[in-house]
Amino acid sequence: MFETSYIELDKTALQHNYQFLRNLIGNDVQLSSVVKGNAYGHGLEKFISLSEACGANHFAVFSADEAYTVQQVKRPESGLMIMGMIDPSELAWAIENQIEVFIFDLERLEKALATSRKLQIKVKIHLELETGMNRLGLNPSEIEAAVALLKRYEDAYILQGLCTHYAGAESIANYVRVKKQIVTYNKLAKRLKQLGYVPQKYHTACSAATVSYPQTRMNMVRIGILQYGFFPTQETLIQYLKNKKEQIDPLKRVLSWKSKVMNIKTVEAGEFIGYGTSFLASRSMRIATVPVGYAHGYSRSLSNQGHVLIQGKRLNVIGMVNMNLMLVDLESTEGVQAGDEVVLIGTQGDTYISVASFGELSNQLNYELLTRLPRNIPRKVVE
Ligand SMILES: *Cc1c(COP(=O)(O)O)cnc(C)c1O
Repeated sequence: MFETSYIELDKTALQHNYQFLRNLIGNDVQLSSVVKGNAYGHGLEKFISLSEACGANHFAVFSADEAYTVQQVKRPESGLMIMGMIDPSELAWAIENQIEVFIFDLERLEKALATSRKLQIKVKIHLELETGMNRLGLNPSEIEAAVALLKRYEDAYILQGLCTHYAGAESIANYVRVKKQIVTYNKLAKRLKQLGYVPQKYHTACSAATVSYPQTRMNMVRIGILQYGFFPTQETLIQYLKNKKEQIDPLKRVLSWKSKVMNIKTVEAGEFIGYGTSFLASRSMRIATVPVGYAHGYSRSLSNQGHVLIQGKRLNVIGMVNMNLMLVDLESTEGVQAGDEVVLIGTQGDTYISVASFGELSNQLNYELLTRLPRNIPRKVVE
């Protein structure tokens, strides 16, 4: 209510995707549902409840602020881990709330352990290893020092995980680098095991690695984009379909973005439509006004380029996308009225507008387009 557009989350689609993932990874591998970036634009709070209803019981976020939101809505028994940023001042909060944290350097390790000892609550740590992405993680040369700290604070932690992240498992171009990372990780894991450190979870795989490098699944995977119904890249989908009988995308999109027709008018041939002169009516035209514009996240670069669905038909966005409005050519439709549903992303009848089609012009990834969907668009769950 009181919003000009809304985002629907399809429960059936999410259930379907979790079933697909379960079949892929088997029953013995923990699935951590990655919900950073406002659950890839799906809406963090709504998505948490929905995914728990579909069987998820572990979540991964980037930062403490996201963890704070998840903590408010998740079931008490669901696990929660921060893969990235926590300010040192927020560590105590994370420890008190039993939130698992990635440890990516020795300072962070010492600070976490000392805080934990002071609070008399064990900190749940995931040691992140630098294996070749050169972003975050303990260098192989720092393992001895890390072990020394763990010895010193023996009673202060639970070794929840040992992890790393691959530098581009979604593209075969990175094959050699990823393979090297796998070797490095396995070597370090073995060394730690010999020293008596066995974490509860060994985890390295994101969506792409889960599909393309099955040996990276170990006993936990961190799945973002696949659960929302997208392959990380076309390449990963092709890799998945290799040797499959049915050559169809096995996932279902969870998200749709919808609005309503606001007004309809007829414009005579020879008239310009909207601001300026970017669109000239070459015939008498019926046009619909839709109350969504760039202020709502519908890119201005889709002026005279975008498409929407009305009556199950794919129609052209004409003229400039305004701050709060866009105009649509109603050609080939009949009897469209104010209040009729307009689909900006998603399915209507047999027709579909993909997230990616938003990005054709600027070549953005699904990841970026999804996470850019504004937070203030209401999300609702449909069964
Ligand atoms: C985002 C992220 C993931 C999930 O990536 P997907 O490609 O969406 O599955 C996994 N691990 C880390 C460390 C991440 O930052």
